[in-house]
Amino acid sequence: MIARKNSAALLARAAAVIPGAVNSPVRAWKAVGGATLFIAHGQGATVIDADGNRFIDYVGSYGPAILGHAHPEVVAAIAEQAAHGFGYGAPTELEVAIAERVAAAIPMARKVRLVSSGTEAGMTAIRLARAATGRSRIIKFDGCYHGHSDALLVRAGSGVMTLGVPDSAGVPEALAALTRVAQYNSLEAVERYFLAEPREIAAVIVEPVAANMGVVPPAPGFLKDLSDLAHRYGALLICDEVITGFRLRYGTAHEIFGAEPDLVMLGKVIGGGMPIGAVAGRADLMDLLAPAGPVYQAGTLSGNPVAVRAGIETLSILARPGTYERLEATSARLGDGMAEALRDAGLKGCVNRVGSLVTAFLGVEAVREAEAARRADTALFARFFHAMLERGIYLPPSQFEAMFVSLAHSEGDIDRTVAAARESLAEIAKF
Ligand code: PMP
Repeated sequence: MIARKNSAALLARAAAVIPGAVNSPVRAWKAVGGATLFIAHGQGATVIDADGNRFIDYVGSYGPAILGHAHPEVVAAIAEQAAHGFGYGAPTELEVAIAERVAAAIPMARKVRLVSSGTEAGMTAIRLARAATGRSRIIKFDGCYHGHSDALLVRAGSGVMTLGVPDSAGVPEALAALTRVAQYNSLEAVERYFLAEPREIAAVIVEPVAANMGVVPPAPGFLKDLSDLAHRYGALLICDEVITGFRLRYGTAHEIFGAEPDLVMLGKVIGGGMPIGAVAGRADLMDLLAPAGPVYQAGTLSGNPVAVRAGIETLSILARPGTYERLEATSARLGDGMAEALRDAGLKGCVNRVGSLVTAFLGVEAVREAEAARRADTALFARFFHAMLERGIYLPPSQFEAMFVSLAHSEGDIDRTVAAARESLAEIAKF
């Protein structure tokens, strides 16, 4: 058994002063049971907890750590910027540079507004869509997560799905009632909503690759048809690329699938691990934002120079030749290895993988939407999680969070992980 004395002491201290002992719910391990570990530091693909236990990390800060932890070039960039100050409440050249970089990599992103989180990006995108269309309703997909703003916290994935609560207390019914929910990978319900309210829907919002109900790839044609449908009814398409942006390729994922969003949300990777978010899109829409236009949006730390420096450095490393090919090879080795391990253990399950986003669903043969994801055997997943932890592998503590592979994961790390998965699956299959 791994040592847990220091983590346990920290958890007790945290419980006294932090609600639920954590600053974001999934960190509390409610879905897998047991006491969460406190991380002391990270280096490359490894995290080390407060008791000195070392783990190969597949949480990756839930997406930002695509280069691994504490990449030396990013650390140097942050240190250099920090010596010049952490923020001025005035514009900087760095903000221009990152906006230019993002716009150059994403053809539809003519203008870019930086915020400090994916949640803010979602709030701003929805407000823009409502202002531009003069409509109030939105359509989202069951199991997709777009941050914790009121309108978007309806049938959301991620922690909401993990905790098994359908919605959040404190969201006014009147606001939740403006949100329509459809099954991912199915146009039927979307079409029905448009037929029923042809001039009421401001926007459809979607993760181009769903990654908050576990990883679920879009069905062929789904995103292209969704674009066409939304546009036919005068609604906007918002692609939430907070996870997928600059993770699946240098730029956005929607282009892979032929979607034509009017706005995109970004976050995670573009901040290199520092707090960031962004909305980007058509110039006419983006120019509705204050002070150019009437849609108010602001942030004391928006475009924070330390975060932006970390982001620029991360993007410049990602832009080097061969980066995404290498990430794909490592991720395929993991996905294939896990799938084989599942088969060899004789356990029902499936591995969904899109690039460096991987989920092994236990107890279900195929997952294409949230209903199937919910049928996964979460109790079995909890046992798998702990069996892997004991073998030095740190998985996201929920069946519904993606494993994030980074460029710091070596073939050796992957092979150790797959070997641990084989042992863990054999162990849990005995029950
Ligand atoms: N959109 C997606 C697709 C996400 O995965 C997340 C967070 N996991 C968000 C939005 C919200 O981002 P943040 O946690 O930075 O507010």
